[in-house]
Amino acid sequence: MRLNRFLMSPTYYGGNRIRGQTGFMIESSVVVRTRSWIVLCLGRLLGGLLGLLTIGSPAAVAADCPGHPDALGTSRTLIVDPGAHPRIGTMQYRETLPLKDHEVVLTFDDGPLPKYSNQVLQILADECIKATFFIIGEQAKANPEGVRKLVAAGHTVGTHSMNHPLTFDRMPLDKAETQINGGIEWTSAAMSDPSKLAPFFRIPGLMRAEGVENLLISRGIQVWSADFPADDWRHVSSDRVYQLAMQRLEAKGKGILLLHDIQPRTVAALPKIIRDLKARGYRIVHVVPATADLPATPTTPVEWLLHPPTETTPIARWPAVPNFVFAQTKTLPAPALADLNARTEHQALLPRKTMALADVAATLPVPGRDLFAIPEGSVEVLLSTTLSRRAATRLAMAAETPRAAKSKAGKSHAPRTARAAHVTPKHAAEANGTAPKSTALKSTVPRPTRVASLKKRAP
Ligand SMILES: [Zn+2]
Repeated sequence: MRLNRFLMSPTYYGGNRIRGQTGFMIESSVVVRTRSWIVLCLGRLLGGLLGLLTIGSPAAVAADCPGHPDALGTSRTLIVDPGAHPRIGTMQYRETLPLKDHEVVLTFDDGPLPKYSNQVLQILADECIKATFFIIGEQAKANPEGVRKLVAAGHTVGTHSMNHPLTFDRMPLDKAETQINGGIEWTSAAMSDPSKLAPFFRIPGLMRAEGVENLLISRGIQVWSADFPADDWRHVSSDRVYQLAMQRLEAKGKGILLLHDIQPRTVAALPKIIRDLKARGYRIVHVVPATADLPATPTTPVEWLLHPPTETTPIARWPAVPNFVFAQTKTLPAPALADLNARTEHQALLPRKTMALADVAATLPVPGRDLFAIPEGSVEVLLSTTLSRRAATRLAMAAETPRAAKSKAGKSHAPRTARAAHVTPKHAAEANGTAPKSTALKSTVPRPTRVASLKKRAP
């Protein structure tokens, strides 16, 4: 009983067993490559070297799609080792697929649902695009033929739980395992060859939890998030789905696009997305799991980062940031603004005035006029004039010790007195020492005309 063994063995994907199998990935990959080679050899027999140089170019890809000369095609197959890079997708994880600039991986969740999944399959077939599908166990149970169609078309098939609970971030591990197993059981049961199931899993609603991830990883299953969604599960128009897909792709330059093959708006948006991908020079990459017979595509660790640090960016010399993503079991990392439905093209990324602040500003009391009615000549007035703080302090001290003021006033404050006399000639006499001692302090400073005028207007 292959199915039982599959469910009982926690290392089904990771151990030697998978290495002994010949997965459909190998077959489809070989078929694609062989066909590509034949086309090149026959069609470009005289082209010789020129023909070889065009492998992988859009022209060669289009030639691989009979009857559809304008097809976008699939530019290459990326073979990944789930154990080496167990969590992918920058919406939630540090790493993502090692794509080159302008490379895109299409993924479809929640199927198969014949009415829409069949249309998605036809659109992809017409463009010779290979994608990855994350199947819900109950959907596979209800539509096993839908799963077989995916395999026959050469798409990669992973799983997406038994019945799509949005509680993976808080459900007990044994329940999560039951969900994972249910999805695998019914998806592989729908296949004529269960070995064709890829060890790829996407957590429903991306409700990640460290325990669930560790469980999947211990079984050799790669946890797939995404680099950007197109919100096609929300009540938006197909045009909006198309716009979001392209906007978010353009923002990141490459990546894994998350779509759903059970939505009419996705069916409507997909041809436009594909046309635009082609027009803007994007290329489709097909992802398959590595096996003993199919070694992983050689990559370097930095290629698994969306934007690898370079020598020209100062951040490359900063200490490595701890990977906080995995520190908390129940906390989703905040998605990037580009992943949200923010209208970033119209909306400046500036702090917005909150209602609370606006209310406070509106209700602040107007200062009463008597606040400005300060007695002329007081220390407060001195401090409020244009006199230097140092001079004001000295005068304040003088006010407290009249004797000291008397001895100093004639010397150190003489220049100021002269200036004061120039500004307000009326007080010149006082400044020259004819004023009584009690008003000496007042006489040594320029009159605070502004304050005085306010005082006059005060009731
Ligand atoms: Zn889903």
